[in-house]
Amino acid sequence: MNFALSDQLTKELEKIGMKEVYKPEIADLIIVNACSVRKHAEDKVFNRINILNSLKKKNKNLKIIVTGCFAQNQKEKIKADFVLGTYKISEIPKIITNGKEKYINTDFDQYKFLKPVRNRELPFQAYIDITVGCNNFCSYCIVPYLRGPQISRRSKEIIEDAKRLADEGVVELFLLGQNVNSYGKDNNEIGFAELLYKIHNIDGIKRIKFLTSHPKDFNDEIIDAVCNLEKVSKWFHLPIQSGSDRILKLMNRKYTVEHYLRIIEKIKSYKIDFAISTDFLVGFPSETEEDFLKTIEIAEKIKFDEAFMFKYSDRNYTASYSFENKISEEVKNERLKTLIEIQNRIEKENIKKHIGKERNILIEMISKRNSEQILGRDELNRTVILKNENLKIGNFYKAKIVDYKGITLIGELLV
Ligand code: SAH
Ligand code: SF4
Repeated sequence: MNFALSDQLTKELEKIGMKEVYKPEIADLIIVNACSVRKHAEDKVFNRINILNSLKKKNKNLKIIVTGCFAQNQKEKIKADFVLGTYKISEIPKIITNGKEKYINTDFDQYKFLKPVRNRELPFQAYIDITVGCNNFCSYCIVPYLRGPQISRRSKEIIEDAKRLADEGVVELFLLGQNVNSYGKDNNEIGFAELLYKIHNIDGIKRIKFLTSHPKDFNDEIIDAVCNLEKVSKWFHLPIQSGSDRILKLMNRKYTVEHYLRIIEKIKSYKIDFAISTDFLVGFPSETEEDFLKTIEIAEKIKFDEAFMFKYSDRNYTASYSFENKISEEVKNERLKTLIEIQNRIEKENIKKHIGKERNILIEMISKRNSEQILGRDELNRTVILKNENLKIGNFYKAKIVDYKGITLIGELLV
């Protein structure tokens, strides 16, 4: 999401005559768009801002803007020329032009979606925010407090933008939201499944992906759309967080492990090739060894193709901030390490199941390590290496998976 916003903002700034440079030392304006989900990330951003401020000694014209969740959360504590909250990103070009002195604005008033643009690094791809904010209030999560309630973008606007991007050469769309499955519920729009059907009808768009899904809202209609629509990647990113119902309840996730397993069974009933990834959050307040073992059990049972694993970080505003029985850093680290080791082993085992399969690869880039190799992604969102035989970036090629290296697949072009 932050990548998408940064790209959109760059485009807006180009409209007022600014030009992107790649070294902070030669910039007259630096925008830090940063995240607050975990404390560790925030600490790193504070350090980075200090370093950037030191550049002012050499360049008296340098202005620094800090924005995103981080700005919304840390407000006055930030040393910068402008501190602009999550609702103010779209106003940055105006604020720069007006050139006010030190200015902080973190109001939640009217949210304005920036125009989605082609991804700068992969110009055949575009991110589209279909919602902002979140209404779920998972007890550990700061996002609803910093990004406000869920707001769905009008489907008409999304479709118009998707068509425009297709005309500009985009073949792959990435739909974004904190919980895309609840798209439209805040403003009587069409539902997420219907949105997928509509986007699927757009000529030129050949692949559709989305992040993030929420198990409580991932209903049969959505599973049906993903499994039946050819252009939608067969990649399910469904954050489970924990394998213990007791912890899931305390997390206010509003589903049980059994519900989650039913979703997997339903997907399996389509008899399609698919990949599943997840987020795990270990060391939530009061998590016992028994709870943690249930998380391991579920990781072993489902065998996720990929997992993002985090240790609990206390965040201000959140409900769990005031929960008792916090888990020590030492235990959190140990549990995270154990889970990572198990998940790494599972991923290595899982990778073998792709051998012999035929896949449709969208070429992304020439390998930075070896120019004779080109990297792409298949319809399961797995990275596949192919021999670089004049394959065009942004085009699709049929290939057979013949080998793997680590957790990367190696394919051979089918003619
Ligand atoms: N809306 C998405 C993404 C939320 S943030 C979702 O619901 O999945 C991405 C991940 O960060 C979450 O899934 C969770 O695993 C992790 N996370 C959120 N708050 C956290 C916290 N306080 N400490 C550690 N990890 C956290
Ligand atoms: Fe945070 Fe939960 Fe919303 Fe995701 S769904 S952003 S974890 S509150």
